[in-house]
Amino acid sequence: MSNVLEVKGLCVSYGGIQAVKDISFVVPKGEVVTLIGANGAGKSSTLRSIVGLVKPTLGSVLLNGKEIAGKTPESIVSQGITLVPEGRRVFADLTVLENLKVGAYLRKDSLDEDIRWCYDLFPRLKERSWQLAGTLSGGEQQMLAIARALMSRPDVIMMDEPSLGLAPIVVRGVFDIIREINRQGKTILLVEQNANMALNAAHHGYVMETGRITLSGTGKELSENDSVKAAYLGKA
Ligand code: ATP
Repeated sequence: MSNVLEVKGLCVSYGGIQAVKDISFVVPKGEVVTLIGANGAGKSSTLRSIVGLVKPTLGSVLLNGKEIAGKTPESIVSQGITLVPEGRRVFADLTVLENLKVGAYLRKDSLDEDIRWCYDLFPRLKERSWQLAGTLSGGEQQMLAIARALMSRPDVIMMDEPSLGLAPIVVRGVFDIIREINRQGKTILLVEQNANMALNAAHHGYVMETGRITLSGTGKELSENDSVKAAYLGKA
């Protein structure tokens, strides 16, 4: 299986602080891959540097074999990868439909088919097409943030803590959608503190600690690993 994303020797620094220290990992086409780890481990910085929101200080990021490290977010997104940011960040004063259109602003072709696809995936959004995004529930906003990201027709969709601040039943809905989007052919790189749900959904996982990858394996291997259980799954 080919790797749609290959990260090699990636480093991210803020001033003198090194947040990501020489990490390497791959995301095979068609898989769900998760990065898990505690607060401050460097997970968000990794995603933000892949999509160009922060410039990596060193390292290479290959998307479908092409170097994207150091390029602008617009050029990176237009090459087929997008980020659903932590905290959702929908445009509160725009309607659901307008938010979806913003997600496709780099595209010049017709959006009708993609809007239909998003509304099939998220019937709740279809019902609320004209509602202002700021008045949606937290779960609905998360769905909208995911749908908006899909509107750029990415090969790879990265999600930063999609379960954050949501009730358990809503979290299950978010993970059902992640599985469904993957089943429909999208490759997913998922950052989560909810390690249990993430490892269950993922084909492969990487554990990050203080800027480094310390463990990797299949979702099943990691969820059965004693140190992962003790540190991230609340099981001794
Ligand atoms: P969390 O789950 O809490 O978001 P994380 O694993 O995603 O954690 P990062 O947000 O990537 O971790 O943070 C890694 C380190 O980089 C932390 O020490 C953080 O304080 C620092 N950091 C992140 N963003 C910035 C920034 N814009 N300026 C300075 N330091 C930053």
